[in-house]
Amino acid sequence: MIERARILDAGDPLAQYRDRFHVPEGVIYLDGNSLGCLPKATPDRLVEVVQGEWGEGLIRSWNAAGWIDLPQRVGAKIAPLIGAQPHEVIVADSVSVNLFKLISAALMMRPGRKVVLSEPGNFPTDIYMIEGLEAQGLAERGLASRENLIDALNDDVALLLLTHAHYKTGELFDMAALTEAAHQAGALVLWDLSHSGGALPIDLNACGADFAVGCGYKYFNGGPGAPAYAFIAERHHGDVRQPLSGWMGHARPFAFSDDYEPAPGVDRLLCGTPGILGLAALEVGVDLIAEIGIERLHAKSQALSEFFRQCLAEADLDMDLVSPSDPAKRGSQLSFRHPEAYAICQALIARGVIGDFRDPDILRFGFAPAYLRFADMAEAVRHLAEVLETGEWQRAEFRERAAVT
Ligand SMILES: *Cc1c(COP(=O)(O)O)cnc(C)c1O
Repeated sequence: MIERARILDAGDPLAQYRDRFHVPEGVIYLDGNSLGCLPKATPDRLVEVVQGEWGEGLIRSWNAAGWIDLPQRVGAKIAPLIGAQPHEVIVADSVSVNLFKLISAALMMRPGRKVVLSEPGNFPTDIYMIEGLEAQGLAERGLASRENLIDALNDDVALLLLTHAHYKTGELFDMAALTEAAHQAGALVLWDLSHSGGALPIDLNACGADFAVGCGYKYFNGGPGAPAYAFIAERHHGDVRQPLSGWMGHARPFAFSDDYEPAPGVDRLLCGTPGILGLAALEVGVDLIAEIGIERLHAKSQALSEFFRQCLAEADLDMDLVSPSDPAKRGSQLSFRHPEAYAICQALIARGVIGDFRDPDILRFGFAPAYLRFADMAEAVRHLAEVLETGEWQRAEFRERAAVT
């Protein structure tokens, strides 16, 4: 398979981009869906922002270096990558906080309806944010399995909140079909793009989506805890109210008025002062993904994961795939169920093959197409085969659980 991988790498139109990232020596990084690699341009950009714009420019940089517009500027760069117009996307806070704002907004837009419908096993924060509003008496949590979601869309549902690519299995929802079904039932839709944005083509406006949120530190390579992005369809710009009515989301923050008046459009999603260092780092990651292009990234992501499966077959490794076998139905990852998933994952990490484990028994490999090679697939499978065949995973050190898995 190594020979075949070499041929595929030689013909890979994205091969040159690997060098734009820092991929540590001896590491096969299959966790770019959790924390993307560092773009080589990021440290220099941060030095410039810290030493020049902050150190020298000080408060003047809010205007002179364009800090004040950075949430809109980075949002506008993300917009074409998710099928939105530039003025429909803004970067602010974390995904969780943006979920709170947009779930609240949807509830206010559907008076008389309280149910926020999601699926059991959605990413925990999405479900917890509904619970937080439920505890205040503002929402009712509704959960229905994938097969039953459409039936569960009744007159009580204010909002359908789903994650486009499931974090554990990578399974994709049919965004257009579910959005349409929710609208027919009179509900709004909020898509969480954390596991798909920056890796696969998304067309929010073609699907008629109302709201979306997504993550900056996964496929957009914005760095640990990078700020998140949020989308509001233009047709809702006049109607959205959100409860975190901080001064930065005011129509005129520097009028210092006693009364809150929301800024136009997505700007009203801002709350407090944006974190400029995080935004500056995210901008570098987004620029790089935009330069490579989502269509090409998607094609390579599918080719990488299919090649990974061919390598497994070649090595006679019969792993229990929980991701859809059709690459068109999954995000940029493959997940396998194994009772010893945790220990196997640790044994692989000790060999420099970094994937991750998701409780209770999922071994997850993410294929960030911007910097991975086909040779990495072949090597990762060779390591996996050795770990399984030698029983290396049984060593005691691979069973100790760390705080972050
Ligand atoms: C990673 C991820 C998040 C992260 O939320 P934060 O508030 O930024 O920590 C949220 N939702 C999904 C589906 C994710 O995959």
